Amino acid sequence: MAEEKKIGITVKKKDDFSEWYTQLIEQAELADVRYGIKGFVVYREWAQVTIEKMYRSMMDALDRKGHMPLCFPTLIHEKNFELEAEHVEGFTPDVFWVTQAGSEKLNEKYALRPTSETAFYQMYSLWLRSHRDLPYKRYQRASVFRAEKTKGTRPFLRGREFHWIETHNAFATHEDAYKQVLEDMEITREVLGEEFAIPHIFFERPQWDKFPGAVSTFAADALMGSGKVLQLPSTHLLGENFSKPFNVTYVAENGEQKYCHLTCYGPAISRIYGAMIALHSDDKGLRVPFNMAPLQVVIVPIPKEGADNKAILKKAEKLSKDLGKKYSVKIDDRDEYTPGWKYNYYELKGVPMRIEVGPRDLENGTVIIARRDTGKKELTKDPDVVKVVDKIAGEYTENLLKQADEGFEKNIVHSKSVEEIKKALSENKIASAGFCSIGMDGAKCAEKIDLTGGEVRGKRMDKEEKPKGNCVSCDKPAKLIVYVAKSY
Ligand SMILES: [Zn+2]
Repeated sequence: MAEEKKIGITVKKKDDFSEWYTQLIEQAELADVRYGIKGFVVYREWAQVTIEKMYRSMMDALDRKGHMPLCFPTLIHEKNFELEAEHVEGFTPDVFWVTQAGSEKLNEKYALRPTSETAFYQMYSLWLRSHRDLPYKRYQRASVFRAEKTKGTRPFLRGREFHWIETHNAFATHEDAYKQVLEDMEITREVLGEEFAIPHIFFERPQWDKFPGAVSTFAADALMGSGKVLQLPSTHLLGENFSKPFNVTYVAENGEQKYCHLTCYGPAISRIYGAMIALHSDDKGLRVPFNMAPLQVVIVPIPKEGADNKAILKKAEKLSKDLGKKYSVKIDDRDEYTPGWKYNYYELKGVPMRIEVGPRDLENGTVIIARRDTGKKELTKDPDVVKVVDKIAGEYTENLLKQADEGFEKNIVHSKSVEEIKKALSENKIASAGFCSIGMDGAKCAEKIDLTGGEVRGKRMDKEEKPKGNCVSCDKPAKLIVYVAKSY
């Protein structure tokens, strides 16, 4: 037998999340950081197969809600990019510019899109004419480029190129636009919450922390290891902030010319993938929801000297054929690796189920089914295999969600002072607290909270919460409850 390559993660997730994540990426062969341009990494096949499934889930959900896809150029003309003042101020420091073609310097500058409002809306102004054209709901799948300098890059979670879907929608009224924001939250709940099993809370972000150019921003935070939150999709009410400079108008029923109300929603699939694997994976390696797994069932034959190894392999092949009708299945009968090494390998790769077939199973008409979510092994009679696999497949993702969810709500601590917030954060918790305002007049109070190392994430959207007492910062009566957390 050839010498087996040593595999596995050598640190514990709870001891050193950052190193654990780095090793997970490397050992499970999800990305390679050796590409040679800072902040740009290669996504490898074991990640990309899952990412494609995630795209499909998200695009299916958008299609169901009446969006249609289109595809815009990667370059945005400088003069367009600069039309919305807050937007240009917010994004300019991070823009990559194209200034040269071949050996010739260009007469004009083009931005590599950091986001596409300024690309879409110049075209919307040409396309939209009448109230009959509205609502107009479109999306594109694309990669965007941001030369972020403030925080270190990390595969999937933070990079200078990321892969996303952006929707850009136009409506006749503010009410219609606001309904779209609620629908975006609903899509997030269905896709991220159920299909990707990522527990999250939607917040209305404070005014000082909104998307540049938006009227208001609503963003989902997921709680990651070590008590920090990660911002996942956000959806923005743009009001008339872009439709005015870009002249996106329509003629109302009464003949009046009006500005459209715009919204945009940006689920960054690559970042959501990073969050999903960081959340569900463990010290043995990768774990992903059942339908997102590149391989769902692996069958490992266990040959033995003197046993009928041909019959063992035949049994494995029959199982593979039966299960292959519904699931992605593979037999690993390589003889240069021991069964034990293969167990570790497929656990590292996050395959939800492993079926072991040995000489005794041949005699007894059984197999062993091991599941990756609980680590349990089940001795199963041959005629029951499909039934048991169906059952595990059916409960696997929900089980991952349950394990992740337990970590969320119990990590929220209600705090009555800035000191208490500081204490909660130091214990890797999220703090909730009474606060005066998430409008610009609350910005001073938020600065006091920033000193704790956490940030005001905003007002919770999934439930009404009545504050008691005073703002933790200024002692004026509290008007709402905000959440404070450290973030990635
Ligand atoms: Zn205050």
